[in-house]
Amino acid sequence: MSTRPEQNPELKLVFDEPVQKKKAPKHLADLSPADRKAWAKELGLQPFRAAQVATHYFSHLSSNPEEWTDIPASERQTIAAALTPKLIELVTTRTTDNGMTRKDLWKLHDGVLVESVLMRYTDRVTVCISSQAGCGMNCPFCATGQAGLTRNLTAGEITEQIVAAARACVNGELPGGEARLSNIVFMGMGEPLANYNAVVRTLHNITDPNPDGLGISARSVTVSTVGLVNGIEKLMDEGINCTLAVSLHTPDDELRDSLVPINSRFKVREVLAAADAYEKKTGRRYSIEYALIRDINDQSWRADLLGRLLKSRNAHVNLIPLNPTPGSKWTASRREDEEAFVRILEGYGVPVTVRDTRGREIDGACGQLAAAEKSK
Ligand code: SAH
Repeated sequence: MSTRPEQNPELKLVFDEPVQKKKAPKHLADLSPADRKAWAKELGLQPFRAAQVATHYFSHLSSNPEEWTDIPASERQTIAAALTPKLIELVTTRTTDNGMTRKDLWKLHDGVLVESVLMRYTDRVTVCISSQAGCGMNCPFCATGQAGLTRNLTAGEITEQIVAAARACVNGELPGGEARLSNIVFMGMGEPLANYNAVVRTLHNITDPNPDGLGISARSVTVSTVGLVNGIEKLMDEGINCTLAVSLHTPDDELRDSLVPINSRFKVREVLAAADAYEKKTGRRYSIEYALIRDINDQSWRADLLGRLLKSRNAHVNLIPLNPTPGSKWTASRREDEEAFVRILEGYGVPVTVRDTRGREIDGACGQLAAAEKSK
């Protein structure tokens, strides 16, 4: 048995969130439908206003209270401001791939910045969202990891990134006209399972049917984790059944201790056992993310070890060519090493894809993009 991180003083820094000076305004997306109703009552509103506002927010994606005609005109603005305060403000947008990939930079109420990336493909539209400002996991190849954790986002702040993306789709802001947001990946900034409650609330906001949530299928939602075993174990009992992606990056503990420092607490074997249990409980094949780093983790013997580890598991491997971070001595693997890696895994019958590198020109692909996408 491993020691859980919260019991381990050494890892305290990793999990401790710096004190937030001023809390983000409360939003209905922070609460369950029952709590939204109770909150409306507390605010002196009729409890059914909560469901009305949720309908405008999640079903109609309406940010204009003047359209909320089931609420008296004189009260619309006040009710909207109370239950759905604006939590994220657009700072900049950058696009690439002829506009099909777009990165939005958001400012939160306290000036903290986070990013989300919207990607249109022929058959789907995916948004990659942030669950934390910064990250405490300290993976040396990841840009976000270098800056450390600023703070957790609230469920409202995470949900707002998704609702903004859904609005951009229905408003026809991406080339190709009106679309529907179909996929959500927690592969932006942050370690989602280190912000567990807010992430689970967000997962309900995504998957609950209208008007309680956006009504997006859990199979189109991917939570990507460094492998926080306790978080994976908890998540499988939530009954949400979203897709799990595990950032493994190497099959051996020796190297993983440095590539993914939380491995000093949760070893490869334990992480895979938790992912297997998740797969068994939810029926969902999981993804293994593997950033290929030249001469670091791309040797044939590691491909061989990974193949042996995964051959009898219900897992899919996403190889991600490393996107070098500024100042890093590491770079992506040679083409021939990448090809050999793929062939070896295929030799074991392990499904494998090499991820596309969308959005690199806009720094959108600091590795935090849609890795699980191609396994669909
Ligand atoms: N904390 C979560 C989400 C991180 S972002 C996790 O670790 O899974 C999603 C993926 O991008 C992770 O697999 C992460 O390891 C990977 N990644 C981070 N930086 C990268 C880089 N510079 N190049 C390629 N992949 C990277």
